[in-house]
Amino acid sequence: RPGFRGKHVTVAGLGVSGVPAARVLLGLGARVTVVNDGDDERSRQQAAELEALGAAVRLGDGATLPDGTELIVTAPGWRPDKPLFAAAAAAGVPVWGDVELAWRLRGPGAAPWLAVTGTNGKTTTVRMLAAILEAAGLRTAAVGNIGVSLLDAVLAGSEEGGEPYDVLAVELSSYQLHWAPSLRAHSATVLNLAPDHLDWHGSMEAYTADKGRIYEGNQVACVYNSADKATEELVRAADVEEGCRAVGFTLGTPGPSELGVVEGILVDRAFVPDRQRQAQELAEVADVSPPAPHNIANALAAAALARAYGVEPRAVRDGLRAFRPDAHRIEHVADVDGVAYVDDSKATNTHATEASLAAYDPIVWIAGGLAKGATFDELVRGAAGRLRGVVLIGRDRALIREALARHAPDVPVTDLGRTDTGAMAAAVREAADLARPGDTVLLAPACASMDMFTNYNKRGEAFADAVRDLGAGRGGQG
Ligand code: ADP
Repeated sequence: RPGFRGKHVTVAGLGVSGVPAARVLLGLGARVTVVNDGDDERSRQQAAELEALGAAVRLGDGATLPDGTELIVTAPGWRPDKPLFAAAAAAGVPVWGDVELAWRLRGPGAAPWLAVTGTNGKTTTVRMLAAILEAAGLRTAAVGNIGVSLLDAVLAGSEEGGEPYDVLAVELSSYQLHWAPSLRAHSATVLNLAPDHLDWHGSMEAYTADKGRIYEGNQVACVYNSADKATEELVRAADVEEGCRAVGFTLGTPGPSELGVVEGILVDRAFVPDRQRQAQELAEVADVSPPAPHNIANALAAAALARAYGVEPRAVRDGLRAFRPDAHRIEHVADVDGVAYVDDSKATNTHATEASLAAYDPIVWIAGGLAKGATFDELVRGAAGRLRGVVLIGRDRALIREALARHAPDVPVTDLGRTDTGAMAAAVREAADLARPGDTVLLAPACASMDMFTNYNKRGEAFADAVRDLGAGRGGQG
């Protein structure tokens, strides 16, 4: 472990990554200064907590590099073009993210990482993977961007923590990968690549390159999506350990170095003794919930990582059977007057929304929020034929309205023109008026939620509450 005693570390940003990072660094004897853009109630609380432990905290000034800084540990969300990082570069100060810090704090014999990134499906895949590893009797946890602290997981088993893990299922965002230059996973996957967070990364090329970091230095397998050539190209471009294999997953019949699907069975042709001749059956499509195509792909990716780690086929099946999807991911909320109400609040970009719009017909679609630099033409063109109507809310709704006018001129669109929290209930009532029995009212915003809500959970809950009110008002059943 690197020596932190007496080292002057600047932690950039409070919040879910900064507070634990500062706490751990203080515990290791570092001199910690925290800089934070905001100066609100919550920041002041967190600042007081860290000051009591010996940190210096500067609220309302995230731009100035504190004198004597030897290392910056940044919250992953901080954009690389921030002035603080220009100052750091000029002064020759390295910048690590929370993942880099966790990686560097791993002790000898630490649990290897099976790492997952991609535009969509990360959380689902990481939780499937953890379920499979658990079914194999391994001590594991789903950690990282998923909300469980990677730092805590890494420190488990050391003098600072509890029981050590055998292996970790790690979800990594493109931001975290950007700030994690020395990370080396046992095996890793990029599930898919579609435009997202382009405002942060600056371009699709920069976003793709940051995602591709996950393959660098892999030891056993780089798992890619055979239907998404960009992911395979990232594998080919990566510098990996000798003997590390490229393994694809496909919804079709697998080739010799792939996992795939044959007659409703998930099969593995990559991690078998004789790759030319054998296909190992892993599980049935019906073992995956929900058994939608995009989710079968997630299950294959999770299975590939588990198999790379040496997990037996039976544990793949048992783990997938034990897995249950999280809330707000294509979640059926209720039927009211013969109309199904589905919450896919987690569809925060067009790629995820495309997957859920493809699953229903006809649809009354509720959309809008923060577009993050996305365009909506392709999404709207693909779904136009299945739309009964559209209800728009949120700050960037005009972008979707204009795309609808171009590609679905006959579909009735109601732009509520609202960004207040109460707009969700109004949107649900409006959608109920547009829907006919047999239709699906689908919340799949294709946008981030922070213009109206704290996060996508709150947005999904507002939708579900509104649906329940509707049901109560109309005597429908949930
Ligand atoms: P992430 O952690 O990458 O945001 P989630 O598993 O939470 O991924 O799912 C996010 C959204 O993407 C959900 O709306 C879900 O329905 C959709 N989704 C999940 N897996 C995929 C996939 N492989 N391809 C496209 N969309 C997906």
